[in-house]
Amino acid sequence: MSQAATKRRIVLLGPPGAGKGTQAATLIDALSIPHISTGDMLRAAVKAGTPIGLKAKAVMEAGELVSDAIVIGIAEERLSADDAKRGFLLDGFPRTIAQAEALEGLLRKLGVALDCCLALTVDNEAVVTRLLKRAEIEGRADDNEETIRERMREYDAKTAPLLDFYRSRGKLIEVSGMGTIEEVGERIRQALG
Ligand code: AMP
Repeated sequence: MSQAATKRRIVLLGPPGAGKGTQAATLIDALSIPHISTGDMLRAAVKAGTPIGLKAKAVMEAGELVSDAIVIGIAEERLSADDAKRGFLLDGFPRTIAQAEALEGLLRKLGVALDCCLALTVDNEAVVTRLLKRAEIEGRADDNEETIRERMREYDAKTAPLLDFYRSRGKLIEVSGMGTIEEVGERIRQALG
């Protein structure tokens, strides 16, 4: 795989529980690019009790989406940092068409373009089972079945339309997220190669 052909500006898309975080960890190592997760940044803000954290807390606990204005602001700030110049893996952003349009505008301003949107496709029911198991193991109180189902509904209603958004721009790469971590990782390597 030549350096020039390597994709380094990537949006990772997929429903909750598709294994985005797990695959992101491997990818950022392989590509030496920063992992930019708006979920991680929002959780840090909640923990630190910042004004953004205070606004986001209840929304996140209900499994709903935080407002576009808030997440666009934090994503823009992070993407403008020096270490994102060589590339980035966006995980959990964009999640709405408005966010995707804001990302396009920002990248245009920065003089770069997205290489691809890597979408992990999964069976929704299998993912709910996977998330419930994870909640049990990690003892995550916010990961009860109702919250999980709400996050799925939010994904279907607001985030799934991004598949067509990126497909129409010739940027969509779909990879099955079913199977073992290694199997999915191998599919991703082949798809990006
Ligand atoms: P995640 O870790 O990506 O699943 O994000 C956890 C929660 O943070 C989500 O359920 C949302 O409430 C919120 N969140 C993270 N990223 C976004 C985003 N791009 N737009 C809106 N809400 C977000």
